[in-house]
Amino acid sequence: MSRHGFTAMYEYPLYVSSCPGAHVIYDTISRQFCHVVIAVFLPRLNSCVYKKLIINPICTRACYDEGKRCAETLFFDYHRQHNLDIKVVRIFNTYGPRMHPNDGRVVSNFIVQALRGEDITIYGDGQQSRSFCYVDDMIDGFVRMMNSERGLTGPVNMGNPVEFTMLELAENILRIVAGKSKLTFKPLPADDPRQRQPDISQARSKLNWEPKVSLEDGLKETILYFKRLLKNGDVRSVNTRSVL
Ligand code: UDP
Repeated sequence: MSRHGFTAMYEYPLYVSSCPGAHVIYDTISRQFCHVVIAVFLPRLNSCVYKKLIINPICTRACYDEGKRCAETLFFDYHRQHNLDIKVVRIFNTYGPRMHPNDGRVVSNFIVQALRGEDITIYGDGQQSRSFCYVDDMIDGFVRMMNSERGLTGPVNMGNPVEFTMLELAENILRIVAGKSKLTFKPLPADDPRQRQPDISQARSKLNWEPKVSLEDGLKETILYFKRLLKNGDVRSVNTRSVL
């Protein structure tokens, strides 16, 4: 089972927290080498770049969100105390080939459902928005960050600022797949953000980075990947546990 996404978050909360793993990394690296460059990739950090900061440390997904915040704090403490060279990138909604088909994320769910002709599960009214970054763009950003001057610690936001609602995403996927799936509406998960859009001004100015792959092109590649998985029988069912 994937350790990412909703399934893992609710079934294995302690594993999902980034803190224990992060601790091992800092401890090992800072004792043995003082000047190793490490990167913390913090998927889907739930705050800081938004005008309105919403933090709920006791909700069901808090193990995930707080784990990332705490990992970031520890990285900066190790940086100050041990002169450890760090690079911190905050990743926003990234998708592409090699996604886990069962991790419950929206892009993988919708594509698998559309390819199988199953109903597309929209949580809430589908008007919530996300900004989807294709994996190649994200990797290019990481490489630029790792090659940046030593003093640039971040955090630097990386993601695609172009927003889509979940309804628009579903329509795009159905059009590309030429699918006939119907939309079905399910309850919105607790604390599901209404909007998630990165402010990438730092990545633009300091790393000369911005995403280049359109949602259309990225979805086409991702759909090809999932078609292959389905053909090989590598997908059982998608994870649509929306009420948690
Ligand atoms: N979502 C949805 N149907 C699904 C899976 C997700 O409508 O089958 C919604 C989810 O409620 C959220 C959005 O899609 O509003 C993005 O979900 P995801 O888990 O991919 O990313 P995150 O919420 O962490 O940004």
